[in-house]
Amino acid sequence: MADRILLVEDERLVREIVQLNLQHAGFEVHAVGTWAEGDAELRSGRYDLAVLDLMLPGGDGLTLVERARAANILCPILMLTARNESGVKVRNLEAGADDYVTKPFDVPELVARVRALLRRSGGQAAAAPARFAFDRYWIRFDTGEALTNEGEVVLSHKELKLIEQFVRNADTVLSRAHLLEEVWGMDAFPTDRTVDNFILRLRRLFEPDPDNPVYLLTVRGRGYLFRPGGAG
Ligand code: CA
Repeated sequence: MADRILLVEDERLVREIVQLNLQHAGFEVHAVGTWAEGDAELRSGRYDLAVLDLMLPGGDGLTLVERARAANILCPILMLTARNESGVKVRNLEAGADDYVTKPFDVPELVARVRALLRRSGGQAAAAPARFAFDRYWIRFDTGEALTNEGEVVLSHKELKLIEQFVRNADTVLSRAHLLEEVWGMDAFPTDRTVDNFILRLRRLFEPDPDNPVYLLTVRGRGYLFRPGGAG
């Protein structure tokens, strides 16, 4: 089945050219021209990828990204930005977009970027999603970047593997033995204490109040439980 792409672009000519080229490249494309339509479509979760214009009638394309990520819509998002100002890249990535092209762009390059993003996300479909968000936090499993209580950081390999275990097994109690096996594997001499120390670290990064965790919970005598919906 063809990958389904959502295109949100208000300039009719650009919309038609991009839609035709993506269709020609074998994608199924649904194109809309306003922020409100884009918001409803993107949050429907029906798309494998979204191409969003930054400046739209009715709102900013970046708020579409933020709202989608907050709703755990994890598909890759490519931004079309008219401006070439220095802050655009950072703002795009902070909002949760995966890539961007600056207008005027080369259509074959846009198609190539779309293909690359789909390849990346497809390769990880069986594992953790490319990006995971809860509360005000997000984690990118492809780059290790995360938005935490300490701002934007790059997680260590072990931290990322540990979070991946919790995300893949959300709402399931994971024993220390399981985590040691999956995350530390054949490493020399990790102990239950090693796991506990990493959990403390993750709570400092991803709990609003690390001393009173609501997402990463201790289940006495059994292990740890990640509840992305919160404990309440
Ligand atoms: Ca526009």
